[in-house]
Amino acid sequence: MPSWRLACALAAARCASGLRAPARRAAPRAPRRASASEGTILEAREVANKKAERRRIASSPTFFRTHGDFKEEQAVVQEKMLAEMKSTLLDSMRAGTFETSRGEGNAAVTFRLAQEYGMCWGAERSIELALAATEKYPDKRKHITNELLHNPGVNNMLADAGVEFVDKTADGGKRFDDVSPGDVVILPAFGATLAEMQHFDDMGVTTVDTTCPWVTKVWNVVDKQVAKGMTTVIHGKYAHEEAIATASYCDNYIMVKNIDEAEYVCRYILNPTPEGKEALLAKFAKAMSKGFDPDVHLAKVGLANQTTMYKKETQAIGKLFELTMIQKYPEDASDRFVAFDTICDATQVRQDAIQEMIQDPKVDELDFILVVGGFDSSNTAHLVEIPHDAGKTVFHINEGDCIREDNSVKHRLLNGDVVIENDWLPADRPLKIGVTSGASTPDAYVQDALERLVLLKAAISPAA
Ligand code: SF4
Repeated sequence: MPSWRLACALAAARCASGLRAPARRAAPRAPRRASASEGTILEAREVANKKAERRRIASSPTFFRTHGDFKEEQAVVQEKMLAEMKSTLLDSMRAGTFETSRGEGNAAVTFRLAQEYGMCWGAERSIELALAATEKYPDKRKHITNELLHNPGVNNMLADAGVEFVDKTADGGKRFDDVSPGDVVILPAFGATLAEMQHFDDMGVTTVDTTCPWVTKVWNVVDKQVAKGMTTVIHGKYAHEEAIATASYCDNYIMVKNIDEAEYVCRYILNPTPEGKEALLAKFAKAMSKGFDPDVHLAKVGLANQTTMYKKETQAIGKLFELTMIQKYPEDASDRFVAFDTICDATQVRQDAIQEMIQDPKVDELDFILVVGGFDSSNTAHLVEIPHDAGKTVFHINEGDCIREDNSVKHRLLNGDVVIENDWLPADRPLKIGVTSGASTPDAYVQDALERLVLLKAAISPAA
């Protein structure tokens, strides 16, 4: 069907269905690309105790990190959160059977919502603090050191509120030269490195720290490992902002992204050879602390994780290192390995809920599963992987605009490619769709996507 006819049909379907038109958000800005010019890769100033240094900075009178610091702004922030983030559609599904249907005949669409989905309290808290900063300091320049969290709509909202994003450069650095003493700097939900904390403290800026407390909990675990002279094995992705921040609080670390990499390291512990050492240093060159020597630094290890990794995989990695230490050092293995559970509950319950959805005998009724969440969001990617690995059809979109009037959808594949699928929805039958969303995705954005999908289905499915 020519696109102008679809556009008309969409408008007609909108009226007929009684659905409100999807909220028109500001057109997404072009993604922030790394500029070619040189940036600054900050090095942390050496300190005797990183934990004490972090606490010293956080206790500064210009460092704010709790709702209590923004009491006067709370009412207006809550109003904005309600208007921008909440969804009456999802709330009513949650209050009922988690299912709802729209349209009739072949245009009918039924949505089945996962029992746990969507924005976690840590992300919500982070947005509230960032918005509070924009309310409290209307006349100051405000910067953020990274995306607040991995959701394009949320980041655009902050940009609209006047927050400037510190530019990243192709060499892995950031352009901090735009930040001046007296400005306000917001630290994102993933946290910031010790070097950045020191830099802004030295400059005398006002800092609003929105780091999720679950991330801080991991840093507290790292502090204990450092105190025991242990190397931290981080289950995480070395380029992820949270993992980078966590690594900065370690004395020595090595980062493994999955059980295969953990097995690689454990094989070396059990069977070290000069060739194996060279290969290990090359393989983990970007994922280890400076001066890392596997013969020295793998003798005593503790486990930590990026909060959004698979809990079961983190546990398996922990068990693997524990057994490896028992085998290598049977005399005193208990002094050479330590692990605490630091996977955040929000991540885990969303993973469990999508697992339940695909294990339910009624899963075969579903035409596909729609996952809404940022394309860079690690926890959202895991919500895609679970049904995909179980052989289900999944579409991962990052916002409602991915659902297009020409019956195509822009979605992200598991390998990271963002592709267009044409002739997406079938016109000749009703549909049943499973729905979930990542921990940094506001419910309102999910509702926006579902409404677009209903309107599209009504436009392409001829009336019976
Ligand atoms: S997913 Fe967990 S760690 Fe991440 S922001 Fe939410 S509560 Fe915090």
